[in-house]
Amino acid sequence: MFQVSPISAFSDNYIWMIHNSDNQVAVVDPGAAQPVIEALKKSGKTLAAILITHHHSDHVGGVNELLEQYLVPVYGPENCQFSGISHRLVDGDNIELFQRHLTIKTVPGHTLDHICYLNETADGAQIFCGDTLFLAGCGRVFEGSMQQMLTAMHYFKQLPAETQVYCTHEYSLANLAFAQTVEPNNLYIQQQIEHCSNLRVEGKPTLPSSIANELLINPFLRCDNLDIQQTATLYSNKTVNCELDTFTVLRQWKNIF
Ligand SMILES: [Zn+2]
Repeated sequence: MFQVSPISAFSDNYIWMIHNSDNQVAVVDPGAAQPVIEALKKSGKTLAAILITHHHSDHVGGVNELLEQYLVPVYGPENCQFSGISHRLVDGDNIELFQRHLTIKTVPGHTLDHICYLNETADGAQIFCGDTLFLAGCGRVFEGSMQQMLTAMHYFKQLPAETQVYCTHEYSLANLAFAQTVEPNNLYIQQQIEHCSNLRVEGKPTLPSSIANELLINPFLRCDNLDIQQTATLYSNKTVNCELDTFTVLRQWKNIF
């Protein structure tokens, strides 16, 4: 497993810094360069690679400035409109990072170019999932279809339960408030609110999450749950009895929550 640490950027972004044992690091989605440069200076580490999940500016905005100081490969989606990518990746590709392998999974929905990076080893797994899966939530569906985003949720559900989930945004408490509205009797959500609230009071990130945790608390991974389908029926005032309709109602509801 990689050692991973967060760099805060903007109001609620995390730029994940992946360490190796040799004073080198890679960063995921550097939307801004300055926080990365400061973190590198402070830690005495050298930048070795940049990983991009999708084209939004809060994920790629710092790349060109970093490239002025560090000549490193920039990995990203094959169909990404951002021009700074040197290694373009498609579904199933493998890249080597610090003697480990990262597998690429395309997960269109939030954007059409969105990819995730999965590090799966004998001692555990880690996924860098950008704006697709959040703690107790999922990204807005801007470019793809609801079916595409639901397909992405199915991919996350089948990952090993211990997989550590590295999302880009600190949206956890807002997502949990929505999750609790959808499932008021889910005690895991109540426990998670207390846990995350304590971390935020201490100024700590609530991330990474894990797939095991998300399966218990994330309504967007639980659209096959009959109680959630009933809640979606009550909210939308029409019969909701399949996963896709449930996902669609919840996603649209969350947009205005
Ligand atoms: Zn985005």
